[in-house]
Amino acid sequence: SRATLFDAENKVKITFDDVAGLDEAKEEIKEIVEFLKQPKKFTDLGGKIPKGALLIGPPGTGKTLLAKAVAGEAGVPFFSLSGSDFVEMFVGVGAARVRDLFKQAKEKAPCIIFIDEIDAVGRSRGRGAMPGANDERENTLNSLLVEMDGFATDSGIIILAATNRPDVLDSALMRPGRFDRQISIDKPDIIGREAIFKVHMSNLKLAPDVEAKKLAAQTPGFAGAEIMNVCNEAALIAARKNKHAIDMQDFQDAMDRVIGGMEKKNKIISPHE
Ligand code: ATP
Repeated sequence: SRATLFDAENKVKITFDDVAGLDEAKEEIKEIVEFLKQPKKFTDLGGKIPKGALLIGPPGTGKTLLAKAVAGEAGVPFFSLSGSDFVEMFVGVGAARVRDLFKQAKEKAPCIIFIDEIDAVGRSRGRGAMPGANDERENTLNSLLVEMDGFATDSGIIILAATNRPDVLDSALMRPGRFDRQISIDKPDIIGREAIFKVHMSNLKLAPDVEAKKLAAQTPGFAGAEIMNVCNEAALIAARKNKHAIDMQDFQDAMDRVIGGMEKKNKIISPHE
């Protein structure tokens, strides 16, 4: 339906302060904020502003969050959609959606277009699971390439796309003038995890025994999304016990629960791998 075409947020409140860790990625992506805020500074010297950047990294590591923060920092609207929305679509619908998206983005420029799971639509052409469905996906990909080529570099639109499968992407997407920048986003190390815990603890009522550093040490392999889950579960567990503050035991119980969920998810996923 038209209502689910894509999301548009005019006033984004997320900033780089909401994104913990990811220092290198933030440093690289800051340039895009500059392009959006002061395009003339770059084009006056004859430079061509990049049209897109690809954020590459595992699920839940903050790719969407970082893309949103770019919009928030630059004070521009944020259009978002997921590549997986294009799968199993009727003939022509995907391509029409892409055109519609770019039309609206042009009206709102400067702005960010964010395409999550771009691999769902951007798999290299001539490869993929279902015949038929595949042709339609290729149509959508082609229309995305056409739109990207069609707008001028000084139009004020920058496309950020996220993937955890850069290996399957059609090389046409990476040509100069398309997603010619690639920013890698890794799972956080212990320092990063501590920072992410601190961001998500900032609006929780904590008991004095809670230490972000200790929790970071106990959560190797956790992505930001899982750390956010731990914080939220800990709050719910403490509330259920009628506590007035969340203590370390609640975080322990929350971690067990989140790890349980992660294991279940892996069990469901693994037979297909
Ligand atoms: P996916 O590939 O599954 O779409 P993603 O990389 O886009 O995942 P996000 O959707 O940005 O991940 O992360 C989900 C949530 O996890 C965020 O909204 C945020 O609350 C939390 N989170 C993830 N990474 C970070 C981070 N580096 N700092 C703070 N919070 C984070």
